[in-house]
Amino acid sequence: MLALQGAFASHAEMLGEAGATPIEVRTAGELAEADALVMPGGESTTMSMLLDIAELRAPLAGRLADGMPVFGTCAGMILLAVNVLDGRSDQRSLGAIDLDVRRNGYGRQVDSFETDLVVDGLEGTFPGIFIRSPVVERIGPDVEVVAEVEGRPVLCRQGNVLVASFHPELAGDARIHRRFLESAFASDAA
Ligand code: GLN
Repeated sequence: MLALQGAFASHAEMLGEAGATPIEVRTAGELAEADALVMPGGESTTMSMLLDIAELRAPLAGRLADGMPVFGTCAGMILLAVNVLDGRSDQRSLGAIDLDVRRNGYGRQVDSFETDLVVDGLEGTFPGIFIRSPVVERIGPDVEVVAEVEGRPVLCRQGNVLVASFHPELAGDARIHRRFLESAFASDAA
Protein backbone atom coordinates (compact mmCIF):
# COMPACT_ATOMS: atom_id res chain seq x y z
CA MET A 1 0.00 0.00 0.00
CA LEU A 2 1.02 3.52 -0.69
CA ALA A 3 1.40 4.73 2.91
CA LEU A 4 2.03 8.46 2.54
CA GLN A 5 -1.32 9.44 4.02
CA GLY A 6 -4.85 8.18 4.45
CA ALA A 7 -6.62 4.90 5.11
CA PHE A 8 -3.87 2.40 4.36
CA ALA A 9 -4.05 0.39 7.61
CA SER A 10 -7.51 -1.00 6.86
CA HIS A 11 -6.33 -1.94 3.37
CA ALA A 12 -3.48 -3.90 4.94
CA GLU A 13 -5.99 -5.88 6.97
CA MET A 14 -8.12 -6.73 3.92
CA LEU A 15 -5.08 -7.60 1.79
CA GLY A 16 -3.83 -9.91 4.52
CA GLU A 17 -7.23 -11.57 4.68
CA ALA A 18 -7.15 -11.98 0.92
CA GLY A 19 -3.82 -13.81 1.14
CA ALA A 20 -1.27 -11.09 0.32
CA THR A 21 1.69 -9.86 2.35
CA PRO A 22 1.16 -6.10 2.47
CA ILE A 23 4.10 -3.72 2.77
CA GLU A 24 4.00 0.02 3.37
CA VAL A 25 5.36 2.03 0.46
CA ARG A 26 6.83 5.45 1.22
CA THR A 27 10.01 5.42 -0.86
CA ALA A 28 11.06 4.47 -4.37
CA GLY A 29 12.99 1.52 -2.90
CA GLU A 30 9.87 0.19 -1.19
CA LEU A 31 7.87 0.66 -4.38
CA ALA A 32 10.42 -1.42 -6.25
CA GLU A 33 9.74 -4.29 -3.82
CA ALA A 34 5.97 -4.27 -4.40
CA ASP A 35 4.37 -6.54 -7.00
CA ALA A 36 1.12 -4.53 -6.95
CA LEU A 37 -0.04 -1.35 -5.27
CA VAL A 38 -3.10 -0.14 -3.38
CA MET A 39 -3.59 3.63 -3.38
CA PRO A 40 -5.87 4.40 -0.42
CA GLY A 41 -8.48 7.01 0.33
CA GLY A 42 -7.47 10.16 2.14
CA GLU A 43 -6.98 13.59 0.65
CA SER A 44 -5.92 13.55 -2.97
CA THR A 45 -4.42 17.06 -2.96
CA THR A 46 -2.20 16.17 0.02
CA MET A 47 -1.32 12.80 -1.42
CA SER A 48 -0.41 14.38 -4.75
CA MET A 49 1.93 16.78 -2.96
CA LEU A 50 3.45 13.99 -0.85
CA LEU A 51 4.13 11.93 -4.00
CA ASP A 52 6.36 14.78 -5.18
CA ILE A 53 8.03 15.31 -1.80
CA ALA A 54 8.80 11.59 -1.50
CA GLU A 55 10.09 11.61 -5.09
CA LEU A 56 7.70 8.82 -5.85
CA ARG A 57 5.81 10.31 -8.79
CA ALA A 58 8.25 9.37 -11.54
CA PRO A 59 8.95 5.82 -10.28
CA LEU A 60 5.22 5.28 -9.77
CA ALA A 61 4.40 6.55 -13.26
CA GLY A 62 7.07 4.20 -14.58
CA ARG A 63 5.63 1.16 -12.79
CA LEU A 64 2.13 2.06 -13.99
CA ALA A 65 3.41 2.33 -17.56
CA ASP A 66 4.98 -1.13 -17.12
CA GLY A 67 1.58 -2.52 -16.15
CA MET A 68 1.95 -2.94 -12.39
CA PRO A 69 -1.50 -3.87 -11.01
CA VAL A 70 -2.96 -1.02 -8.97
CA PHE A 71 -6.13 -0.58 -6.94
CA GLY A 72 -7.09 3.01 -6.12
CA THR A 73 -9.88 3.83 -3.72
CA CYS A 74 -11.48 7.24 -3.35
CA ALA A 75 -8.54 9.69 -3.23
CA GLY A 76 -6.51 6.90 -4.89
CA MET A 77 -9.05 6.80 -7.71
CA ILE A 78 -8.73 10.57 -8.15
CA LEU A 79 -4.93 10.27 -8.41
CA LEU A 80 -5.20 7.56 -11.08
CA ALA A 81 -7.76 9.29 -13.30
CA VAL A 82 -6.93 11.10 -16.52
CA ASN A 83 -8.88 14.24 -15.57
CA VAL A 84 -9.79 15.69 -12.18
CA LEU A 85 -12.64 18.20 -12.02
CA ASP A 86 -12.82 20.54 -9.01
CA GLY A 87 -9.26 19.60 -8.12
CA ARG A 88 -6.74 22.07 -6.81
CA SER A 89 -4.86 23.82 -9.58
CA ASP A 90 -1.54 22.31 -8.51
CA GLN A 91 -3.00 18.82 -8.11
CA ARG A 92 -1.64 16.36 -10.67
CA SER A 93 -3.06 12.98 -11.50
CA LEU A 94 -1.29 9.98 -12.98
CA GLY A 95 -3.64 9.35 -15.91
CA ALA A 96 -3.60 5.57 -15.54
CA ILE A 97 -7.32 5.03 -16.19
CA ASP A 98 -9.37 6.86 -18.82
CA LEU A 99 -11.86 8.55 -16.49
CA ASP A 100 -12.89 12.09 -15.62
CA VAL A 101 -13.75 12.33 -11.93
CA ARG A 102 -15.17 15.20 -9.93
CA ARG A 103 -13.75 15.58 -6.42
CA ASN A 104 -16.38 15.54 -3.68
CA GLY A 105 -18.89 15.18 -6.51
CA TYR A 106 -21.75 13.88 -4.39
CA GLY A 107 -22.11 17.34 -2.87
CA ARG A 108 -22.68 18.52 0.66
CA GLN A 109 -26.10 17.07 1.30
CA VAL A 110 -25.02 13.49 0.73
CA ASP A 111 -21.28 13.72 1.08
CA SER A 112 -21.14 10.45 3.00
CA PHE A 113 -23.53 7.52 2.65
CA GLU A 114 -23.75 3.77 2.65
CA THR A 115 -25.51 1.61 0.08
CA ASP A 116 -25.56 -2.05 -0.93
CA LEU A 117 -23.74 -2.51 -4.22
CA VAL A 118 -24.29 -5.11 -6.87
CA VAL A 119 -20.81 -5.94 -8.14
CA ASP A 120 -20.33 -7.89 -11.37
CA GLY A 121 -19.08 -11.35 -10.52
CA LEU A 122 -19.78 -11.20 -6.76
CA GLU A 123 -22.70 -12.99 -5.19
CA GLY A 124 -25.23 -10.96 -3.21
CA THR A 125 -24.34 -7.40 -2.39
CA PHE A 126 -21.27 -5.57 -1.13
CA PRO A 127 -21.44 -2.77 1.47
CA GLY A 128 -20.56 0.45 -0.35
CA ILE A 129 -19.23 3.10 2.06
CA PHE A 130 -18.90 6.51 0.39
CA ILE A 131 -17.01 9.30 2.18
CA ARG A 132 -16.67 12.58 0.29
CA SER A 133 -16.29 10.41 -2.76
CA PRO A 134 -15.47 11.42 -6.30
CA VAL A 135 -18.13 11.09 -9.00
CA VAL A 136 -17.21 9.59 -12.35
CA GLU A 137 -18.31 12.03 -15.04
CA ARG A 138 -16.83 10.37 -18.12
CA ILE A 139 -15.59 6.88 -18.89
CA GLY A 140 -13.31 6.07 -21.76
CA PRO A 141 -14.16 3.35 -24.30
CA ASP A 142 -11.72 0.84 -22.77
CA VAL A 143 -13.01 1.19 -19.22
CA GLU A 144 -15.18 -1.60 -17.82
CA VAL A 145 -17.83 -0.62 -15.25
CA VAL A 146 -17.89 -3.29 -12.52
CA ALA A 147 -20.46 -1.64 -10.25
CA GLU A 148 -22.62 1.45 -10.40
CA VAL A 149 -24.99 3.43 -8.20
CA GLU A 150 -27.97 5.09 -9.87
CA GLY A 151 -26.31 4.99 -13.25
CA ARG A 152 -22.97 6.33 -12.00
CA PRO A 153 -19.94 4.03 -12.19
CA VAL A 154 -18.39 3.42 -8.74
CA LEU A 155 -16.04 0.49 -9.46
CA CYS A 156 -14.17 0.52 -12.77
CA ARG A 157 -11.35 -1.29 -14.37
CA GLN A 158 -9.04 -0.79 -17.32
CA GLY A 159 -6.36 -3.43 -17.81
CA ASN A 160 -4.44 -3.74 -14.55
CA VAL A 161 -5.99 -0.62 -13.03
CA LEU A 162 -8.97 -1.02 -10.69
CA VAL A 163 -10.58 2.01 -9.03
CA ALA A 164 -13.41 2.43 -6.52
CA SER A 165 -15.06 5.68 -5.52
CA PHE A 166 -16.05 4.03 -2.22
CA HIS A 167 -14.10 2.37 0.62
CA PRO A 168 -14.04 -1.44 0.26
CA GLU A 169 -11.35 -1.57 2.96
CA LEU A 170 -13.89 -0.38 5.55
CA ALA A 171 -16.59 -2.88 4.63
CA GLY A 172 -15.29 -5.83 6.65
CA ASP A 173 -15.49 -7.84 3.41
CA ALA A 174 -12.29 -8.74 1.56
CA ARG A 175 -13.93 -9.96 -1.66
CA ILE A 176 -12.99 -6.97 -3.82
CA HIS A 177 -9.40 -7.04 -2.56
CA ARG A 178 -9.31 -10.78 -3.25
CA ARG A 179 -10.56 -10.18 -6.75
CA PHE A 180 -7.99 -7.49 -7.35
CA LEU A 181 -5.23 -9.89 -6.30
CA GLU A 182 -6.66 -12.75 -8.33
CA SER A 183 -6.81 -10.73 -11.51
CA ALA A 184 -3.47 -9.06 -10.79
CA PHE A 185 -1.71 -12.39 -10.49
CA ALA A 186 -3.89 -14.51 -12.76
CA SER A 187 -1.07 -15.17 -15.23
CA ASP A 188 1.32 -16.22 -12.41
CA ALA A 189 -1.08 -18.97 -11.42
CA ALA A 190 -1.17 -20.43 -14.92
N1 GLN B 1 -12.50 14.11 -1.05
C1 GLN B 1 -11.21 13.49 -0.96
C2 GLN B 1 -10.26 14.04 -1.99
O1 GLN B 1 -10.57 14.88 -2.75
C3 GLN B 1 -11.32 11.99 -1.14
C4 GLN B 1 -12.10 11.44 0.01
C5 GLN B 1 -11.68 10.06 0.41
O2 GLN B 1 -10.68 9.52 -0.05
N2 GLN B 1 -12.44 9.51 1.32
O3 GLN B 1 -9.14 13.64 -2.05
